[in-house]
Amino acid sequence: MQRRLLLGLALAFTVAFTFASPAAPLWGYGSAQTGVLVVTNTTLIDGVSDTARANMSVLIRGRRITAVGAADAMETPAGATVIDGSDKFLIPGLWDTHAHLSYWGEDALELLVRAGVTSIRELGGDPEEIGTWKAEIESDERIGPAMIWCGPFLEGLDGDDEYRFKIADQDEARYAARALQALGVDFLKIQPAIAPELVAALVDESRHLGLTVVGHLPRGVGAAQGAALGLRSIEHMSPYLRLTDNEIATVIAAYLEHGTWMSPALYSMVAPLEAAGDDPANDARVQRAYEIVQRFHRAGVPILVGSNFAYRDWPQKPGSGLHGEMRVLVEAGLSEMEVIRLATATAAAFAGAAEETGAIRPGLSADMVLLDANPLADIRNTERISLVILRGQVLPAR
Ligand SMILES: [Zn+2]
Repeated sequence: MQRRLLLGLALAFTVAFTFASPAAPLWGYGSAQTGVLVVTNTTLIDGVSDTARANMSVLIRGRRITAVGAADAMETPAGATVIDGSDKFLIPGLWDTHAHLSYWGEDALELLVRAGVTSIRELGGDPEEIGTWKAEIESDERIGPAMIWCGPFLEGLDGDDEYRFKIADQDEARYAARALQALGVDFLKIQPAIAPELVAALVDESRHLGLTVVGHLPRGVGAAQGAALGLRSIEHMSPYLRLTDNEIATVIAAYLEHGTWMSPALYSMVAPLEAAGDDPANDARVQRAYEIVQRFHRAGVPILVGSNFAYRDWPQKPGSGLHGEMRVLVEAGLSEMEVIRLATATAAAFAGAAEETGAIRPGLSADMVLLDANPLADIRNTERISLVILRGQVLPAR
C-alpha cells in the first residue's frame, strides 16, 4: 500500500466517522436491545472468579448486564424474556486475539459470533474493509464481534505480502504511526522484515499517540530484545523453540520486566498435524512448545488466546480455531478455568476493555455464551453452544 493512499484513507475515514448517522439494526435482534432478558438458575463461570457458582441468575437490560445473583433471591421483572439456564453453563463471550478478517472474508464475522467469539483483536488486513465492517458493527448494521484493530501490517521495504505498509526510514515510521492513528486504529502491528531502529521509532511515536506496538519479532532480534524494544505482545512460538531452558528463563524475566504478553498461537502449529492425521503427542516440537507456554504461564507472563485464522485453506478457521486454541492450551497444562479466564477477562484487560466486556458482572456489555455441558470438565464443551448473547441480543444455536 502506498503512503499517499493511506493518507487519503485516513481523511476519508475522518469524514465518514464525523457524519455517520445512527442506523437501525438490520439483522433482526433489535427488540432485545431495549428489552429485559434473564438467564435463570444457571451455573456461572464469570471470567474472573476461581470457581463456578451454581444456581445463579443474570439480568440484562438492553445491552448491559444489570444484576448477577443467586437465582432464588432474584426477581424476574414483568415482561422479561426468560432463558432457562438449568443444567447449562454460562461463560463470558470469548475473545479471539489473533484474527485476520480480510484473508478469510466477510463471513468470518458471523462464524465468529455463532461460535461465541464476541470480541476480537484484528491483527492485520485491509484497513478500508475492516474499518468499514467495524463501523457497521458498532452501529448495528452488521452482525459481528467487537474489535480492536491495527489496520495494515508494517514492515521494511523488502517485505512482501498483502495489506502491507512499507517503511523506508524512521521519519516514515513516525508518519505511519500518525496516519494510522488518524485512521482510528488501536495499535500497530509489525512483521519480521523490519529493522530494530524502525521498530524503536514506531514504539516511540506510538507512545506519544497513546498507541502500542505488537507483532512478530524483527529478523535477527531475540525475544528478550523484542520485549526491551517495547513490543506489547510477541506473536507465535518461533521465538522460543530453539532456546535452552536458561535462555527461556532470561526471556521470561524480560517479559515480566517490560510487561510483554505472550501470544503463542499454539493451535496454528497443532492443527496442520491433526489435519494430516498425526498425533501432536508424538511431535517433539509441539511438546516443547507446550512446556514453554506452561513455564511462561506459571511465571506470571500473561498469555493471549488466539487462533491466527486467515486463509480459507488453513486448518484453523474463524470461531472453531479459537476453540482449538483453548483446547491445546489445556493440553499444554493450563487448567480449563485458567484458559477460560485468559480468553475472556484477561484478553479484555489486554485490550483496555475490562470495564466494557470479558466478564459477567453488572455494568458490562451483555456478551455471554450459554453452554449445554460443563467446560470445566472438558474444555471441548465450549463448542456445545446453546445460545450466544451478543451485546444483549440473543443468537440461537443453529
Ligand atoms: Zn497472524
